[in-house]
Amino acid sequence: MTKTLTNSQRDELFQELKKNQQFYVMNTLKRGKKTVFANVIAKSKGRMIPNGATDEEIGMLLDDWILEDYVDAGAVSEEVKCECGRALRYQYIVRHVKTGEMRHFGMNHFEEHTGLPATIVKEVVQGFTKIDYELDELLLKMQNGSPTYDIPEGLNLPADMKEPLSLHLPLLDRQEKRLNSLIRGYREEKEALQRGSNKLKAVDIPKKVKEDVTAIEELPKEELQGSFDLFAEEVQEPLPEKTSEKPKETYFVGDLSFTTQEAIDGYIQQGTESALMICEFLIKEGKVQDKRYSTKKPKIYYAVCTYLDSFVASGSMSVEPLGREDRIYRLKSGRSS
Ligand SMILES: [Zn+2]
Repeated sequence: MTKTLTNSQRDELFQELKKNQQFYVMNTLKRGKKTVFANVIAKSKGRMIPNGATDEEIGMLLDDWILEDYVDAGAVSEEVKCECGRALRYQYIVRHVKTGEMRHFGMNHFEEHTGLPATIVKEVVQGFTKIDYELDELLLKMQNGSPTYDIPEGLNLPADMKEPLSLHLPLLDRQEKRLNSLIRGYREEKEALQRGSNKLKAVDIPKKVKEDVTAIEELPKEELQGSFDLFAEEVQEPLPEKTSEKPKETYFVGDLSFTTQEAIDGYIQQGTESALMICEFLIKEGKVQDKRYSTKKPKIYYAVCTYLDSFVASGSMSVEPLGREDRIYRLKSGRSS
């Protein structure tokens, strides 16, 4: 993204959007900034916040500052002020989860009024800027009219793409990239099915995983692909090159104690859908040890996914893999988020 808009250009293009498009765009902007903020804070504590985490989940995971709201007053306004009294157009509001303390400030006084370390503030500001660029990207794309995408029938799109498309909004470059790889994967899988080849056999699955995979073999093809991806892409992460033994710090579903399994059931019942989020809850509540890969992904992640996949196999849950990052599990009993 090289081209960026001035405030007045941005306002003008934004006004051209329909009301429901404006609403979606503003909400996405807010949600994006909240997630960026939470992510930087979490990372500074060695934790991970999954994309698409709800406000509630962020609040449960972090016990210090969270971004409560982001206000665009439309113009510099006396109604919207910095802690120091300066009138603002764009105002950030953070809340301290434990103490309930609130701070209102403009971007320029972020560090002064929150007392957060400069390195954290810098990272948050960079993240916010990236999100502002994405708004510009979307508005510029929209200038060229609603785009059309060649999406094969039967390809189930993730919510973050479904929503803008249903509102006739363009996808961001990064989403288009993901869409293309989803389409490619979908077509390849279809072709493979037609050829009757069995992808699972083609991959060297570590011994212990094989046992856990047996249940998955009864899954519909769609689900199978998801589970297969999980192991194919990620199981290598914990496997040291030269050992044939089970890696010491890789957890499988058998390593989850009964209380841990019960806790996972509880999070699912509460409406948590992200496997990564469930891992972070387990760690925060001391149910499992805080062991992580260099990517910060909890080592318990694979065991949690395998456990939840067993519900997918039995038909009581559905799963939406988010690439290598995360897996979203939903109860099928008509419950929605
Ligand atoms: Zn100030």
